[in-house]
Amino acid sequence: MVSSRPRLFTTEAVVLRHSDLGEADRLLWLLTPQRGVIRATARGARKPGSKLGGHIDLLCHVKLSMREGRELHGVSQADTVDAFRAMRTDIGRLSRGLYMAELAQRVSVEDAPAPAVFRLLVNSLGWLATTENADTLVRWFALRLLTITGFKPEFGACAECGDELEPADHVFSAERGGLVCPRCRSQGSDVLQPASLGTIKVLRHLARSDFPAVSSLNIGSEERRQIERILRSHTNSVIDRGVRSSAFLDEVRDWPEVGPVPGGMRAD
Ligand SMILES: [Zn+2]
Repeated sequence: MVSSRPRLFTTEAVVLRHSDLGEADRLLWLLTPQRGVIRATARGARKPGSKLGGHIDLLCHVKLSMREGRELHGVSQADTVDAFRAMRTDIGRLSRGLYMAELAQRVSVEDAPAPAVFRLLVNSLGWLATTENADTLVRWFALRLLTITGFKPEFGACAECGDELEPADHVFSAERGGLVCPRCRSQGSDVLQPASLGTIKVLRHLARSDFPAVSSLNIGSEERRQIERILRSHTNSVIDRGVRSSAFLDEVRDWPEVGPVPGGMRAD
């Protein structure tokens, strides 16, 4: 409840997105540990020499002093914890960072604590600055994000009947939330993605490991394509089902479809 909160608070945050507001202000979408996604204004942040402006760049991990607001909070002070500079100077890494931030925003609800999602994003942006395997990081991140938020895809048994899957090629159903066995495959008219035995092995490995353990994994091109399609279809399905009832969807409705990592930065 807004009325029971203190009027001032401090929080760590990652700047997920920003846009210009008025003459010199900036509107921020922030991911915080205790309040999930919040929106805030940074007054004067676009003025030359602004004390705030230098800290509240896209994807910066910051510590903020905030004034409580009903819908929009106000940033009164900002300090950089980590600007992930090595990620920022490489357009390929930066675009993947923006993609991860967008996914995190899409599965988060405003004003609901999200400490695990926050920590995942901060850790992943740190790895993104140095990893030689940014694409595997993005796939691992998507899978871990789905797991943390309660939408872990089922790779162990048939998502429909629960039977153990033979070690063989199978198919993945985003609608049913996982791999399905040959018997269940023919029941239903949902879209099925191919999942070879090799793909399934990689997915299980990604799902149970921390990123450093999979960072040097060599994934074949066919497996990469299948994993990309499986995770994308599952993520889209979760976003469509999970966030539909939230007012938060109004914020993201005009965003582009979640797809492969974009080739460049968004205009804003
Ligand atoms: Zn089955």
